[in-house]
Amino acid sequence: MRITEYFERSEGPLISYEIIPPKRGGTVREILDLVEELMVFEPPFIDVTSHAAQAWYEELEDGTIRRHVKRKRPGTIGVCAAIKNRFGIESVPHLLCLGFTREETEDALIELNYLGIHNVMALRGDDQGYRKPVRKDRSNNAFAVDLVRQIYDMNAGKYLEQLTDATPTDFCVGVAGYPEKHFEAPNISWDILNLKRKIEAGAEYIVTQMFFDNSRYFDFVARCRSVGIDVPIIPGIKILTGRNQLQTLPGNFYVSIPEELAAEAESVEADRVADVGIEWAVRQCDELLSAGVPSIHFYIMQRGMIVRRVVERLRKMA
Ligand code: FAD
Repeated sequence: MRITEYFERSEGPLISYEIIPPKRGGTVREILDLVEELMVFEPPFIDVTSHAAQAWYEELEDGTIRRHVKRKRPGTIGVCAAIKNRFGIESVPHLLCLGFTREETEDALIELNYLGIHNVMALRGDDQGYRKPVRKDRSNNAFAVDLVRQIYDMNAGKYLEQLTDATPTDFCVGVAGYPEKHFEAPNISWDILNLKRKIEAGAEYIVTQMFFDNSRYFDFVARCRSVGIDVPIIPGIKILTGRNQLQTLPGNFYVSIPEELAAEAESVEADRVADVGIEWAVRQCDELLSAGVPSIHFYIMQRGMIVRRVVERLRKMA
């Protein structure tokens, strides 16, 4: 089923999750156990992230520079297929521009189509210094909008090479939105116009970056609606679980932490910070659900038990 059909057909708010594939050399068992834990809440779908290779540079004592490369984390498609087959729910693989050629993307989409996976999130990814050597006979998507266009071309039967009798695919595509604006965008209006381009290219729903202050989300939705973006905008929620996240979340995701939440997290023992995060997330979700959001999307980051505690509380409040 298309993700958008879940939003249309659901009689109550939906709760979905986003998980990360195992580390290279890990096992799929740990992921399946995590999904098993989440199944009690009957998620309509589960997203599986994608991770391109990364490079970083080290300056040695003699002044020379050493380049290190961390290979990509594989498994997104395999984990999606395992979830779909074992639990019978939709899985949504994330596809990236960076680190993948358009030819590799087309191959991935063909694999997904054969596996019966027809929902994807189209993302640019972050350039962490790693650039795959570009072959002259290969091409790249620069922005997420280019990836969205490639997918909807395939939905129209247009593959990279002109193929006779090419079967159109039927992917439903979600894209990312940023209530606090994307860190590279000069301002929020500029960023929202680029978001609108992704919708005009065919994307059917938006999942937001995490935010801890609901007013950011409500303002963002109002701005999107005012420029004619009319697709569902799903709030992305992360539960604060450790004091170090007061700095790592803003540093890595360019989001702000409200003073009240930061002060509460600093006032308790380290092992109680997750309790503060859970209370905050429950209040945030309760307000969002009361405002009629179609769904809530939890960034799990493999902390299944923490999310369970929030969802259990929300169920009791419903
Ligand atoms: P884009 O939509 O391409 O936007 C990137 C920037 O370019 C923005 O500032 C935008 O305003 C600007 N821009 C867009 N189009 C144009 C244009 N035509 N000309 C000039 N500027 C333009 N990262 C991962 O690596 N793996 C994941 O699995 C993953 N999942 C995510 C899930 C969600 C819900 C979210 C919110 C983010 C996720 N990310 C993931 C992070 C994401 O890859 C980064 O935030 C990335 O920097 C931007 O991705 P995007 O798809 O929003 O890019």
